[in-house]
Amino acid sequence: MASKKLRVAVIGAGAAGLCAARHILAYSETFLPPVVFEASGQLGGTWVYTEQTGEDEEGQPICSSMYRDLRTNLPKEVMAFPDFPFDPSLPSFVHHSAMLAYLESYAEQSGIKDHIRFRWQVDDVQPVPGEQDTTSGWDIKATVRGSGSTRHVSEHFDAVMVCTGHYTIPWIPPIPGLDSFQGRLLHSHSYRLPEPFAGLTVVLVGAGPSGVDLALQLSPVAARVVLSHQGPPVRGLPEDVLQAPLLLKVTKETVVFGDGSALQPDVLILCTGYRYHFPFLPLAQLGLQETDYGLGPLYRHLLAPRHPSLFFIGLCQKICPFPHFHCQVLFALAVLRGRCPLPPAAEMEADAQGQLGRHLREGGLARHFLMLKAQQWSYAEELARVGGFPPLPPVVREIYEATSARRLRNVGTYRDTKYRLLGPDAWEVEWDSGPDPEGDGSAE
Ligand code: NAP
Repeated sequence: MASKKLRVAVIGAGAAGLCAARHILAYSETFLPPVVFEASGQLGGTWVYTEQTGEDEEGQPICSSMYRDLRTNLPKEVMAFPDFPFDPSLPSFVHHSAMLAYLESYAEQSGIKDHIRFRWQVDDVQPVPGEQDTTSGWDIKATVRGSGSTRHVSEHFDAVMVCTGHYTIPWIPPIPGLDSFQGRLLHSHSYRLPEPFAGLTVVLVGAGPSGVDLALQLSPVAARVVLSHQGPPVRGLPEDVLQAPLLLKVTKETVVFGDGSALQPDVLILCTGYRYHFPFLPLAQLGLQETDYGLGPLYRHLLAPRHPSLFFIGLCQKICPFPHFHCQVLFALAVLRGRCPLPPAAEMEADAQGQLGRHLREGGLARHFLMLKAQQWSYAEELARVGGFPPLPPVVREIYEATSARRLRNVGTYRDTKYRLLGPDAWEVEWDSGPDPEGDGSAE
């Protein structure tokens, strides 16, 4: 007897959701065409730029944190999904509009556009109890926004892939006195252009990719830019960008840094990152909880141990994102296709706890648990081995590491490099801004 094909819901039509949909569609012997729920009217997720901040005309929150002049901080040679290269004539570090065009064409060419339900917002995902503690699928409730009308619908699925991203809800650190600040206070989520900051004194808090990018963008127009952070000095910032220790406290007009120095800025921009947010999931009922690092326990950072037909794609940070999504999606589909038997739930939970324990014993902070960094390569390799699909080509790691090394040496010039792929394990620097006195930038 032919077994029934599985109906999979994909929540979110950003890069991770498109990747999930593309591969579900490709395994048509196992799956019905995917149903992709997208709350907005457009695909692309974080790569959709709008000058608006806060809420749109319909009172819906603006999810994207994209700013007008963003160029990628990884080259297109490793941003690409392994099965869908970028146009080689583009520069390596592309503007966000080229990323969106790439995702549009990925969706177009893989035939998934017709399966995206735009303006369908998922409100609730409930497991349907099956026999003997199993889940026999999921009921999804969604709000459908039409022109001038709203309706509520409910549908059943066999599996769910959560691909909702995590760069939307700002993390606001508990800095003493922050609420009393009477200058302009914003989070980098709401930064769009440098012009409104012309002639002003700006303090940026946090030296992640947003803090560093904003320092580079604001320094030509602002009167003064100070980057407050706790890491080693960022190399390659313009000379007029001052670097200061962490903020100790904030008063009405003044910010006080850890070394006791103080400043009266016009603007304070928190570039302090984002929080995970899953308002549509009954976490406790699923055996999951919000944690210091996001969400857990998850087997292999992607699967709910007690409900192994619920997957989270793209929760990890400090990774090469699209190749990472590709591996997570193929692993999740291998599980659903019965190609990758899972251990019992208790064992998967113990494995997740064990990983966290190891991370803490090695001196990692709990809140950094999902920041994979160098671990991302063994992680992706293991998913490929267990899931039975080809591993990432070696160039991905090599160019990623070469870029990281160049960025560490000079945040102002690393994007001047153009890489050229010569094969799965061969690449070269086609062009850069000149000799680098500290080495050739190859993988470390
Ligand atoms: P992020 O990577 O989470 O960085 C936030 C930074 O703020 C971290 O360094 C964090 O330090 C620091 N921080 C947190 N609380 C702080 C406090 N109280 N005082 C001082 N510093 C504090 O967030 P992000 O920079 O917004 O980047 C988010 C994502 O967007 C990343 O994936 C990034 O690659 C991407 N992005 C890309 C581009 C680009 O392509 N050009 C530009 C911007 C962002 P700890 O490390 O101690 O937690």
